[in-house]
Amino acid sequence: MKSGNLGYPRIGRNREWKKALEAYWAGKLEEEAFHAELKAIRLGNLKAQQERGIEIIPVGDFTYYDHILDTAVMFGLIPARFGRLEGKPDLSVYYAMARGSRDATACEMTKWFNTNYHYIVPELDQANPVLTGNRLLDTYREAKTELGIEGRPVLVGLYTFLKLSKGYGREGLAGWIDCLLPLYVQVLRELEAEGVAWVQIDEPILSSSLSGDELAHVARIYETLTKEVPGIKLLLQTYFESVDRYQDVVSLPVHGIGLDFVHDEGRNLQAVREHGFPADKVLGAGLIDGRGIWKADLQGKLETLNALTQAVSADRIIVQPSCSLLHVPVSAAQENLLHTTLREALAFADEKLDEIALLTKAANVGAQAFAAELAESDRSRKALEQSPSRARKQVHARIAGLTQQPSSRTESFDVRRKAQQERWKLPLLPTTTIGSFPQTPEVRSARQKWRKGEWGAEKYDAFIKEQIKTWIDLQAELGLDVFVHGEFERTDMVEFFGEKLAGFAFTANGWVQSYGSRCVKPPVIYGDVEFVAPMTVAETVYAQSLTTKPVKGMLTGPITILNWSFVRDDKSREEVAYQIALALRDEVEALEKAGICMIQVDEPALREGLPLKEEKKDGYLDWAVRAFRLSTSTVQTETQIHTHMCYCEFHDMIDSIRALDADVISIETSRSHGELIGSFEEHIYDKGIGLGVYDIHSPRVPTVEEIGTMIDRALKVLDSAQFWINPDCGLKTRKLEETVASLRNMVAATLLARDKY
Ligand code: GLN
Ligand code: ZN
Repeated sequence: MKSGNLGYPRIGRNREWKKALEAYWAGKLEEEAFHAELKAIRLGNLKAQQERGIEIIPVGDFTYYDHILDTAVMFGLIPARFGRLEGKPDLSVYYAMARGSRDATACEMTKWFNTNYHYIVPELDQANPVLTGNRLLDTYREAKTELGIEGRPVLVGLYTFLKLSKGYGREGLAGWIDCLLPLYVQVLRELEAEGVAWVQIDEPILSSSLSGDELAHVARIYETLTKEVPGIKLLLQTYFESVDRYQDVVSLPVHGIGLDFVHDEGRNLQAVREHGFPADKVLGAGLIDGRGIWKADLQGKLETLNALTQAVSADRIIVQPSCSLLHVPVSAAQENLLHTTLREALAFADEKLDEIALLTKAANVGAQAFAAELAESDRSRKALEQSPSRARKQVHARIAGLTQQPSSRTESFDVRRKAQQERWKLPLLPTTTIGSFPQTPEVRSARQKWRKGEWGAEKYDAFIKEQIKTWIDLQAELGLDVFVHGEFERTDMVEFFGEKLAGFAFTANGWVQSYGSRCVKPPVIYGDVEFVAPMTVAETVYAQSLTTKPVKGMLTGPITILNWSFVRDDKSREEVAYQIALALRDEVEALEKAGICMIQVDEPALREGLPLKEEKKDGYLDWAVRAFRLSTSTVQTETQIHTHMCYCEFHDMIDSIRALDADVISIETSRSHGELIGSFEEHIYDKGIGLGVYDIHSPRVPTVEEIGTMIDRALKVLDSAQFWINPDCGLKTRKLEETVASLRNMVAATLLARDKY
């Protein structure tokens, strides 16, 4: 067996990559120095893999921003608004596509399958495909001459690339295959001429649900590539799920197939067992989790390898991660602040490569020769498994009694609506905001001072109170109907709660790329999640004490907390979601007890957890909805539960959104130019709803007329008695002046609408 990797984090050990990009954008780094800096990181990444004994090292996975953007630019797919292409596009065009320029808006960005990585969506219409360079060849040569590494170039497969693109126009998808296939051939031929033996070609789309017609397209692509470039061997790489149509996929005319044996729920292994594996192909065995941060059960992995050798001869197996390591942080070696048990159970990219190397050797030579290393790995995993943090009796008892836990409000929405009208006496078309107000430099610097210990808790609390007071007064002055406290004490909607709940830890350097230079450091859910003490009560109660208008309590929902964290892998995500949900219920109840009886539980990331396979979507949505309801169901009839969502494609989630049974939902709508509104023509929704009346992602202040138009459009399909007026999303990224001006216009538009409806 051989050891291999599929992709390495780009961001550098200490986010040097991010810093270089941002310095270059800010004009603080000359282009030449910038290239040199990125080259150093790129070579450093290759060396790290080499030093860890990885035999098959990918090249071309490195990027200046995003690998899908790289592919689009390599094929000359540059929308006309970025100028006419002459020769090789330079960095300014590349970054204009990613980030926008003075003259052209950026290309759209969207989630890479079910991960938190975002890629730039290629735009095909009006493009004139032409090969502008061969970045695979360049990086292959570089690795060889600089480090003596015979790398394996990585290229995103044509079918996946096209499925992620938009604007097929008259050619249609099939036409675009014809159009781009010759360019793929050319790229591969140049590699062939250089003496490259293998190319990794990523087709993760094969792991989503695939129709027979689609598979025919895929077959056509690979028949052409193997016929036209006979000297190159292709490893067709899939990940994130089991492959649909296993037998068809493994019979595609390529030389190797990479399968994910971690995120497949055992189906890939079962398929290999049941149907065998073609004798003339290599199997890329994705055994080490490329998305989680935990050490693997190496003994179990050796057993899987053993099972695979029943179907595939050992010399045709590559031991590899389940997907590119882009989704995990670089190295756990520096996490000295975590307690030992937790630290020793972690495996980031480097540690995962160590595991791959070890597994490969153990499989080749026999596990006895590596008994000590295997035992050590096992010991650290078990230590965490048996730690008190995973034995919180109360949590286990609550989960065991889940069937007795209420997950429905006592009264139906009709009854609640009347009771709530009575209690709150809100005007027609009530106005509110989504939660956060501007996080000014002042707010951020105060938090830094407090974190560094320069400010004591008292001083910091007083500062936060001052902010709250300022904004309560502003909301009163603006004439809003339902207030919020403004979230000044929170950096981030998950971290804030994670720091206050038991079961969470925070790494020092556990960064992963989210999009472009933007990295996130997800909290780690390592133990049982439990409520410790009220988290939001003090600020909310203080805000409420300053006004007679209702102040909404503001919480992040269980599914969003789950989806934006690294989650322990000894329990199902469903069970962890219920643990979080019950902890949040305690907070909801604490708020209610303190007199806060409008409570918003945000679930912007509900959609992010959707499985790739159609048949699994309902199952996920069922438990996600249940988790939300576990958090929100024990309140009084008069208590009004709100929720909020962004990027919500309504049509395929309407049943779940209804099932949340929130009294009021606000959804981002204006960012996508109100597309969502149309869904309500076909689908009935009868609870309180606010479709965002202006986009908050731009500093532009919307006019009263514009907002009025959005309200009119919404009220064509929704009843004015159920409609709320609010911006698309939280306002924390906006400046004070623009926020006040926008909200002023929003209230003015509402007053006009109240006369009309
Ligand atoms: N309440 C949060 C805020 O206003 C919601 C953020 C979100 O939807 N992502 O910031
Ligand atoms: Zn939002």
